[in-house]
Amino acid sequence: MNLILLGAPGAGKGTQAEAICNKLGIPAISTGNIIREAIKNGTKTGLEAKSYMDGGGLVPDEVVIGIIKERLQDDDCKSGFILDGFPRTVAQAEALDGMGVNIDKVIEIFVPDEKIKQRLSGRRVCESCGSSYHTVYKPTKLENECDSCGGKTVLRKDDHPDTVAQRLNVYHEQTAPLKGYYEKQGKLVTVIGQEEVADTTKLTLEAVEA
Ligand code: AMP
Repeated sequence: MNLILLGAPGAGKGTQAEAICNKLGIPAISTGNIIREAIKNGTKTGLEAKSYMDGGGLVPDEVVIGIIKERLQDDDCKSGFILDGFPRTVAQAEALDGMGVNIDKVIEIFVPDEKIKQRLSGRRVCESCGSSYHTVYKPTKLENECDSCGGKTVLRKDDHPDTVAQRLNVYHEQTAPLKGYYEKQGKLVTVIGQEEVADTTKLTLEAVEA
């Protein structure tokens, strides 16, 4: 099963991608995580992407398309995958179609902007392994320390309020048109993000299996 998770930053795509990954045993591929890793390692892609990411804008299409093209060739994608954060523009969706990749379903997780702003201000991510937490909804067992690897958990630079507003603008202008794109292909299913993560997961898994 080849899936795409669509939704505003902070809608919970990463969390739901992890749940589907555990259930179906297919890899969750986050372009955001791949780019953050590249920045951390100081690679050419990382250097190219950093200023866009820090400012809340999108990294150029050709860069992310290249990343995904390479990643989808890995063996673990042979029996399916979940794309989290890709595509983010119609040009990226067209490039994916052009790669001959068949997408079975696109699951949109809908959360209103006001809720997103609240959520992102409390989000913390592990500097070392990228695991995601929330100060209220999913706190770490020890303060500022990742449950999985013991790394330090921090507020992402692009989760600062001004940058979040910019990311939401970018989402509505450049990514939301993908809903129409996939609706036309008969692939779009919308899940309403719930207060409790477990409730959203239940709805998401039902949408995957429907
Ligand atoms: P995320 O972790 O998915 O919220 O992504 C964080 C940032 O990485 C975004 O705000 C963009 O700057 C960049 N990024 C991730 N995926 C893409 C993509 N598909 N296209 C362009 N930029 C991306």
